[in-house]
Amino acid sequence: MGMNAFFVSGTDTDAGKTVVTAALLRALRDRGVDAAAVKPVQTGVDSPEDGGCDALRYEAALGGGRDATARARTLLCFRLPASPHLAARQEGRSVEAAALAGSLRTACAGHACTLLEGAGGLMVPLNARERMLDLPALLDIPVILVVGNRLGALNHALLSLDALRLRGVEVAAVVVTSPAPDAAEGSEDAAIARDNIAFLRTCAPTFVLPHCAELTAPRTEAAGWARAAAALAPLAEMLGRRLGLLSGAGEEEAARKEREEAMLAFDAAHLWHPYTSATRPLPAYAVARARGNRLVLHDGRELIDGMSSWWCALHGYGHPRLVRALQEQAAVMPHVMFGGITHAPAVALGKLLLPLLPAGLERIFYADSGSVAVEVALKMAVQFWHAQGRTERSAVLTPRGGYHGDTVGAMSVCDPVNGMHTLFTGILPRQIFMERPSCRFDAPFDAASTEALDRAFAAHAHELAAVILEPVVQGAGGMWFYHPDYLRHLASLCRRHDVLLIFDEIATGFGRTGRMFAAEWADVSPDILCLGKGLTGGSMTFSATACTRRVAEGICAGDHVFMHGPTFMANPLACAVARASVETLLDSDWRGAVARLEAVMREGLEPCRALPQVADVRVLGAIGVVEMRQPVDMAALQAFFVAQGVWIRPFGRLIYLMPPYMSPTEDVAHLCAVVRQAVAGCR
Ligand SMILES: *Cc1c(COP(=O)(O)O)cnc(C)c1O
Repeated sequence: MGMNAFFVSGTDTDAGKTVVTAALLRALRDRGVDAAAVKPVQTGVDSPEDGGCDALRYEAALGGGRDATARARTLLCFRLPASPHLAARQEGRSVEAAALAGSLRTACAGHACTLLEGAGGLMVPLNARERMLDLPALLDIPVILVVGNRLGALNHALLSLDALRLRGVEVAAVVVTSPAPDAAEGSEDAAIARDNIAFLRTCAPTFVLPHCAELTAPRTEAAGWARAAAALAPLAEMLGRRLGLLSGAGEEEAARKEREEAMLAFDAAHLWHPYTSATRPLPAYAVARARGNRLVLHDGRELIDGMSSWWCALHGYGHPRLVRALQEQAAVMPHVMFGGITHAPAVALGKLLLPLLPAGLERIFYADSGSVAVEVALKMAVQFWHAQGRTERSAVLTPRGGYHGDTVGAMSVCDPVNGMHTLFTGILPRQIFMERPSCRFDAPFDAASTEALDRAFAAHAHELAAVILEPVVQGAGGMWFYHPDYLRHLASLCRRHDVLLIFDEIATGFGRTGRMFAAEWADVSPDILCLGKGLTGGSMTFSATACTRRVAEGICAGDHVFMHGPTFMANPLACAVARASVETLLDSDWRGAVARLEAVMREGLEPCRALPQVADVRVLGAIGVVEMRQPVDMAALQAFFVAQGVWIRPFGRLIYLMPPYMSPTEDVAHLCAVVRQAVAGCR
């Protein structure tokens, strides 16, 4: 847990939430825990000094005095006793979850444990878009759900527990309160109240706070708080242990460690990781959760993400809009075959994508991963010429240094050295390679840099089905940024020699280079385009291959059909979350965000250039690269990065960053600072 805090929310409680917060604060203090309580939003009061403020009850529970005042705070006050969205609007103000979360982080910083008491229930609106539930979700803290024990309590409590689980917010405990004096023993009401408690115990760790009549009269109030705090002692113990503040914490930590070690041992013995040895696997780090631009390890450490999980997580992790799209689609129809069937998610995504794509792309093939999108693109090109009776056109031209995936067809167009073609000679189709585009992105265009291209066309144009390449940025093959004019020249050659042009934008698509698609840097439209990775905002595997009408109709000339159809083609879950991701991108100021990351990385990585062990530093859009002269020790560097609180995975001679677009500036600056340190330590 990043923050030592718990969020107190409730259902059917009246004043119950406040009583629980105050009594729990007292119970924690009675155990010597440096605890505090904060009311983020108080409605129905004029100021934090107003007698109606819940914070005054926190103070009362602590017995008043200077220390009590320092441990009880109210952040925002509104006069109208209503939901925050309405109370704020009435005063021409607004409540924003992110801003409030920021203030809460600061308010919690000085204490070992802070209780944050929500206003109303979890679904109470903060504004038109956000709910109270967004606060614990943003802060990534567990919730203590207070349930008023009356008829209907179970319904509301179970709805709240469901809402929390679906948002990935942990339920630390349920506290059942008695809004009215306990019903007579043996009565029907008493039986219902008892059953409510028994039922809730099957759902979450449940504690009971009996009715404290003493709290309603000033004379007996102090005794009431003492009794209420005593009743919540077991909960205070549990929370204190959890935070490592009370005895018994050591055992829990040891048990957690044991579970983690067992998990890592199974992983090392039985699971493959990308490009690793089964007998000498590199260490793997166990990630429990991911939120925003943070990965949370099983031991609670938080890492700033510098990788976007290999180009995918554009909006960071757990974006509520994407999570919701997945959940809603999962509930309706996670999958259905695409043979002979269509569905709204596939159509809606197509409608959204087509106008965004480079001009002329009119037909989309949805596939299940980037590599498959490349296979589909290559098969489209081959089938296109086959249907015209031009079977001599079957070779594919591609620059060295490319990366297009790991399936056989895709491997055949990867860099022959990095892609280890010698391992697979015999099964790989033989393609035609040329030098990689040599002119840097940030240098004036050098016309001589297309000579290799011209030579390749002169020698092979007659046998080419297509040229495939990653526009502007060669990704996993070397993180090389080349001049867009190269693509203009290539496009004119393809037109002149009637060769199909395939752009693989699986890595570069959706804004990463500062343009929606890297093709826009050159203002060139390909005949076939591959999308993947960021298409679902990093939620799940999915890809799309789009082609022009000419290609689609050419393939299907005569009686031909296109010969591909994966089982999970146009998977509705993937389509739904891809749509949510693209819409989220379009609704955001992604250009501004990418430009900001570019500026921060330029400044942060530039000093590396002066070091003799560094061959080059380059930054484009939200991609920052330090190229070393020698290969780096990946395992050692990885451990160093994790120890510094960042997630960066170097490969070969490259240490590179591609953070989620929403990453705070100071986090990206920190990523750069750690890279500088790492580079300085390399030889
Ligand atoms: C990652 C990548 C692929 C392969 O995508 P997978 O989903 O891993 O199969 C293809 N092309 C490019 C440019 C990529 O970056």
